[in-house]
Amino acid sequence: MTARTAWLLGPSYFYHRRLIEESKSWSAAEISQYQEARLQRLLDRYGSQTTSKVDYQNNLRDYTRWDLPLLTHMVRTGGTSGQILRFKADTFARRQKERAYIFDVWSQVGFAPYDLRVRYAGDLHREMFRYNRFENVWHVSPGATVDGELDSLRRWLRTLPPFFLHVYPSSLFTFVDLVGEKLFRSLPVRGVLAASEMFPAGEQLRFEQEFGIKIAHWYGHSEYAILAYCCRECRGFHFYPTYGHVEFLPSDIDECRRVLASSFNRIGTQFVRYETGDLAVDAAADCSRDNFLRASAILGRSQETFIDISGRRRSLFGYAFGDLDHDAFYDHIRDIQFVQDQAGSLRLRIVASPTGNRELIERTFEQHIPLAKLDFEYVSAIERSPSGKRRYFVDLLHADQETPR
Ligand SMILES: [Zn+2]
Repeated sequence: MTARTAWLLGPSYFYHRRLIEESKSWSAAEISQYQEARLQRLLDRYGSQTTSKVDYQNNLRDYTRWDLPLLTHMVRTGGTSGQILRFKADTFARRQKERAYIFDVWSQVGFAPYDLRVRYAGDLHREMFRYNRFENVWHVSPGATVDGELDSLRRWLRTLPPFFLHVYPSSLFTFVDLVGEKLFRSLPVRGVLAASEMFPAGEQLRFEQEFGIKIAHWYGHSEYAILAYCCRECRGFHFYPTYGHVEFLPSDIDECRRVLASSFNRIGTQFVRYETGDLAVDAAADCSRDNFLRASAILGRSQETFIDISGRRRSLFGYAFGDLDHDAFYDHIRDIQFVQDQAGSLRLRIVASPTGNRELIERTFEQHIPLAKLDFEYVSAIERSPSGKRRYFVDLLHADQETPR
């Protein structure tokens, strides 16, 4: 690592880098000692009851520490997890800390800080590619990969030196399909970095075997309270004990537990015994990698795909949420649901905020999802399913195959 990259990574990066390395050899008792002390501080401050999104929506100030200009900034999360949440994040340390853990996850497939990445996600306002020097990453816009542009995408890909492909799980096979399997096999892809959503059962392994490319995969969420890496040995998720505190509590679904998160940050909003809305499937066999708390799978932002105007399956998460999640855009929307009742089109059912700008909402979605015809329907509430769950995507084309969530 050069002095320049070390400087870019920052002091919190190296602090957490060291903690991560140390924690991998901790015993279960050492892990619990580290965690309990930090959790207890939160419980003393906020009480021991569990919290939900509404608590932070209504009492953000009470849960936020050192909320001073420059020290904190507003983060917004939208979409999949339900209603929009705003909270304060540490301006300086959060990014550095996040990198320490994410780079640790990526190192499982050989990634070193600032190796070249191609990121297939987000919107570049009609541009197909954009290079970010500081991150050494090429952004490729899914929104721009319409049929007429595919040849230039393919030509461009052939010119690249070895790179890591950074995608959402549900857009990995879409990407392979777009560039064509033959060309994809010939590209110098060093590894795949696949975030946020879950892979459909078996798909990760299937890709690794079919293409001989390893995938680094992890579970995290926009509140930055807990993070788990997907283990190459047991294929389950190991929660980093120095990132935040996770608890599994009984749920009404067999063999699944509710995932509760408490955050360890000192500055900004502190989440305490926070209901993430995700479910963890109990870990079965032991794993020799470390003594971190484990789950064999996590159900939550499961894969949702829609059929675009050319008949291709596309990741809804990648188009509708992914990069929009952290933008002020979701201030305009209180709740949203996508319905596909016809191939090539999507109906957006939207509960707008009192100050929500409908023209901006529609323009933004049309820019992000140019591959489907969009219809907008403004409603006063999104109804829950009989089991009380809210679905952000309703696929009426495949209604008979749907499983309860
Ligand atoms: Zn494992």
